[in-house]
Amino acid sequence: MHFSAFSKIDSAAKIIRNAKHVTAFTGAGISVESGIPPFRGPEGLWSKYDPIVLDISYFQLHPEKSWRVIKEIFYDFFGKAKPNAAHFALANLEKEGFLKAVITQNIDALHQKAGSKTVYEFHGTSEYLTCLGCGKKYLPEKISLDELPPRCSECGGLLKPDFIFFGEQIPPDAHASSFREAEFADVFIVVGTTGEVMPASLIPRDAKENGSIIIEVNTEKSKYTETITDIFLQGKATELLKELLEKVKIVS
Ligand code: NAD
Repeated sequence: MHFSAFSKIDSAAKIIRNAKHVTAFTGAGISVESGIPPFRGPEGLWSKYDPIVLDISYFQLHPEKSWRVIKEIFYDFFGKAKPNAAHFALANLEKEGFLKAVITQNIDALHQKAGSKTVYEFHGTSEYLTCLGCGKKYLPEKISLDELPPRCSECGGLLKPDFIFFGEQIPPDAHASSFREAEFADVFIVVGTTGEVMPASLIPRDAKENGSIIIEVNTEKSKYTETITDIFLQGKATELLKELLEKVKIVS
């Protein structure tokens, strides 16, 4: 499919408006303008921290070392972030009936904070901690992170954030729901993701194989841009999704 440059966003809006089932698929890029850096790239978190702290075996052997970094990145820092115009635009598209679901690789819960209702968190969430001993769940704000690692008040077990670590399985419900979206969606809006993180990166590819039109929003080309993307909208997620939302609402 080819669209001339000047009309790409209008074409995308028209496609979304006429579609039966539109799904969004988001990555770290959508939260960059909320002040949360991605993992990869020169400004990415992995240029400052060693990703080993998020390896499940390392975490179990060295919980205090892992927790020091986890606390800094995901609770002291992520905790203060607010949804941006891109999160709000997707929530608004859903509210207006143009979007069925958001599949996110992010663990920052900013889609829900913006008002999105159907959100599949493919990598889990930082919004809860679970005891590795008895399975009890805690809200992080109810747990003191002054002493690390935090422990379960019932059984003394080690508490772990509910997002997946390297070496862990994708949450089965989110996995099933995400690939079901890839089966039924006739349009996928792919926002701010490199398409490099497996198995999440397979979801838009599955959607494409099932006949979905792929609209991509990214500041840079990704692994999808020249392989499965039908309309590439290059630029910041906040600006482009806001404009797309406005055009979806007015295009007839
Ligand atoms: P990623 O695959 O999520 O890629 C980030 C992408 O965002 C890049 O393609 C980049 O070009 C794009 N981008 C940057 N700024 C943008 C903007 N303003 N508008 C649109 N696009 C923009 O890569 P990663 O950061 O290595 O992430 C690896 C995994 O970790 C992913 O699953 C990711 O979701 C997760 N992660 C989550 C968070 C979070 O919860 N906010 C933060 C970091 C990483």
